[in-house]
This record gives sequence, structure tokens and C-alpha cells, in this order.
Amino acid sequence: MVSRVIPVNNFDLVIFGGTGDLARRKILPGLFRRFIAGQMPAESRIIGAARSDLDAAGYRKMIKDAIAEFGGPEKKDATSLKAFLAQLDYIAIDAKGDGGWRELAKLMRKNVVRAFYFSVGPSLFGDLAERLHKHKIADENSRIVVEKPFGRDLESAQALNATLAAHFSEKQIYRIDHYLGKETVQNLMAVRFGNVLFEPLWNNHYIDHIQITVAETVGVGGRGAYYDRSGAMRDMVQNHLMQLLCLTAMEPPSQFGADEVRDEKLKVIRALQPVEPHHIVRGQYDPDGDSPGYRDDVENPRSFTESFIAMRCEISNWRWAGVPFYLRTGKKLKERVSTIDVVFKDLGHSIFEGDTARHRNVLSIRLQPNEGMDLQVTIKEPGPGGMRLIDVPLDMTFAEALGDDVDQATDAYERLIMDVIRGNQTLFMRGDEVEAAWQWTDPLIEGWEARNDVPKHYEAGSAGPEDSLMLMHRDGRKWREIKG
Ligand code: NAP
Repeated sequence: MVSRVIPVNNFDLVIFGGTGDLARRKILPGLFRRFIAGQMPAESRIIGAARSDLDAAGYRKMIKDAIAEFGGPEKKDATSLKAFLAQLDYIAIDAKGDGGWRELAKLMRKNVVRAFYFSVGPSLFGDLAERLHKHKIADENSRIVVEKPFGRDLESAQALNATLAAHFSEKQIYRIDHYLGKETVQNLMAVRFGNVLFEPLWNNHYIDHIQITVAETVGVGGRGAYYDRSGAMRDMVQNHLMQLLCLTAMEPPSQFGADEVRDEKLKVIRALQPVEPHHIVRGQYDPDGDSPGYRDDVENPRSFTESFIAMRCEISNWRWAGVPFYLRTGKKLKERVSTIDVVFKDLGHSIFEGDTARHRNVLSIRLQPNEGMDLQVTIKEPGPGGMRLIDVPLDMTFAEALGDDVDQATDAYERLIMDVIRGNQTLFMRGDEVEAAWQWTDPLIEGWEARNDVPKHYEAGSAGPEDSLMLMHRDGRKWREIKG
């Protein structure tokens, strides 16, 4: 792997919830990869903070085990691991009490970047913000990183924003949506705004419709209680799919700056039309042999929460008027796939006699698996026998196209954490963006709750409920196949 990392300044990164699942599975293994890549200055420190009664040695042991379990091939580098662990510290602290805060204040150094990752439930955000302020641990250059879910409706998101704003300015708040840290998502902007080829076609003159699919093969797993209160709309659409839609649909920003990009995304959200009830299909997966169905998984036999949603959205502005955006996401589907498919319009007229098939250009942007893109183009089928046309993909799987130059190991989390240290907010959601997303989402949820909408059944391992296929058929279109 060829690493072209930009070093960052010395930092003290405090991870509240440093003993939790996210910290052990994603954040710390990711930071170890950044360390190996030479991006973590020797003077920098990572301080785990949680209520568990641990000392620095105990925490280092916990993280060593976590890296052994969740890390990539780099975990075999024992020398680097030892050096990385030496930069870890731990403080036992209660977000709701006063124990540990003075000790944390004493640990913090002057003249380094101070970042505080709130990897705890949102009910603790206010307590943390208040105590960081009260104990003068955060200064005006400090940053806080907050995890999803950012509220469960507009009102709670506004309350969370107000809580954080009481002690931190918007410039200091980094709201994570890890989809924005994915390589291909950033590549979407590079493709759109770094090439002359696509932008002239990126509008309702040439694009028929756009499909955004985020399909998972897993069920709700151990998160049943949380998931049943959220559903696919709150858990996936309001944040991840919305961000993908924004990056696909936004106008070119004047420059690649945090506010310029976020201003354009916000305009897209504000231009989203309310979705008609018959343009929304919600579903729940059925039991499959020994494998439990959704209602068994969440232990709620009367649950009306959706584990699948498909919808047809419209953006009312000059660029996109008349171009539907079809979104779908669900659990226990046939493959684990995230793609954006930009389906171009049919040719107005074919000069090839006898060619009755409909040929379409489709640009597919694959977030996972096999990050990359392909462009479906129409060519002549090789061989004699006249001019028969076939559609073939111009495939650019990054790992194949870029070989050793592609950095496949870097995870979205570590990329985003380094952006926090650099002070770059471009790939983080702004408060007004999150609120606007809820403003669009809330009436849709309230609508189906008022209608007592019952989610449709779908088979585990399928492409979702039949009705979601109908959503497309009615428009004379078809979902792209879910395939990895
Ligand atoms: P988790 O495994 O339950 O961990 C929670 C952490 O918070 C633990 O370290 C816990 O340690 C600490 N904590 C709880 N109460 C505390 C208090 N009063 N004071 C100080 N620390 C306290 O949760 P998680 O899965 O890591 O998730 C953390 C956050 O990230 C949540 O907001 C979640 O929604 C979000 N998130 C997680 C994932 C994921 O993949 N796990 C993905 C996306 C978003 P002690 O018990 O020792 O205090």
C-alpha cells in the first residue's frame, strides 16, 4: 500500500465511551492504522474515558485485545502496537457526576489540538458538554465529535443542537455520519466536479432517474430494542441515504470548503418534496427456517416498525424537476450492497435497423463491496452477422484500476477523526442540515403512524417486499439488481 498521508498537529483526543463497542471495534483499531501510516505524532495522546474502574495499563490491555479482535493485517506489527499503546491513557469518569473531571483537566496539555469524541448515548451529550465547560477542559479551539443518532425527530435534534450550542460554537461541533468518510462518497464529488464529462449531463435533460440502494444481509442483531424505536427511516434514510442523495444532487460549490459544500447540500434537502403515501413502501422480514423474523428479533409481536423502506422522492429545482430519486434500504436482503445508480435517458432515435432493445447508459457508483464505479455503455457485439448492440460496463473497481496505490485499509472513521484533528468540517453534518433532514422526515413518519400503516412482509434473502417492485413498475422502471 502506498501511503500519502498528511501529518497532523499534536493532539489530545479524549474518547468518552472509550470502553464501548464503537471505540473498541472501529475508533481505536482505526487510530492504530493511522499510527502505522505515520499520521499520529509521537507527542499525541488518546485518552479513554468511561465509568469502568481501569488504570492506563488496564485500558491498554483492553485496546490490545480489541485490536487483536477487530484490527486488520497491521495488528501483526507488534513493535508498532507496543508504541501505539504507550500513547494511550485512561481516566475513570462519570458524565453525570463530578468524579474524574479534575484529573482529566490536569491531564490536558496546552498548545495541542484538543478533541473530545462523545462515543456515548446522546442522553449524555449535554452532561459532557456542560462538564467540559465547567471544569475549563475545553477552550475555544477544542472540538467535539458526536455520534449518530442525532435526535429522533426535529424537536429532539433542535434540543440537542441547543444543548451543544450552549457551550460550543458550530465550528467546534463535528457530527459524524460515517458514510461521508467512505472513499467512494468523496469520489462522487471528484467525479462530478473534477471531470468535464459528467457535469454537463447531470440534469433532467439527460438523466431519467437515480436509484440509491443500501442493502444489508444482517438482521437487527442485538440492537433490537433500539432499532424497533427507530426503523429504517430514522436509522438509515434520514442520515446516510439523505447524505448520498445530497452529494449526488447538489449544485457545484464555489470551492471545496466546509460551508460551501454544506450550503449546497442544505439547499437539496430544502428542495425535497413531501413524499406521497403511495410512493412509500415499508416492510418487515419474515422468519426463514430457524432464522427469526423481524418481530421475533425485536421481541415485539405487534411491532409496526420497518426493517425495509423504499420511496420515490422528488427534488423541486431546475436541475432535477421531473427526475425521480428512488431510495431503498433494508435488512436481511439478498446481498450487502451500497450503490448509487444514475440511469440516463433513452436515445431519442436509433439509427440501427432491427435494434429493438432499449439501451441505456448507467453510471453506477459502488460504495460497497468492491468500491468503484462502472459506466454501462452500448457497443457493437463482436463478430459477424450485422450490427447487434450490447451493453457492457466500463468497470473501474478501484482496487484493480489503481493496484497498490489504492488505500483499501483506511476506514471511514479514522479518515473522519483525522479531519477533526485538522479542523476540516467538510465531511461532517452541520446543525441546520440535520434539522432540515428531520423537517422533511417527520411528516412522513407521522403520516404512516396516523394511517396505521402496516409494513409488508418480505422474505429474508430477497430484494424486499413485492410492493417495492410495483413502486418502480408503475413508473415503467425497474430496480437495478441487488448484487455484490
Ligand atoms: P456501548 O457499547 O454501550 O458503550 C457506551 C460507552 O459509554 C461505554 O464505554 C460506557 O462505559 C460509557 N458510558 C456509559 N455511561 C456513561 C457515563 N455515565 N459516564 C461515562 N461513560 C459512560 O455503545 P456504543 O455501541 O459504543 O455506542 C456509542 C455511541 O455511538 C452511541 O451513541 C451509538 O448510538 C453510536 N454508534 C455506535 C455504533 C456502533 O457500531 N457501535 C455505530 C454508530 C453509532 P462504562 O459503562 O464503563 O461507563
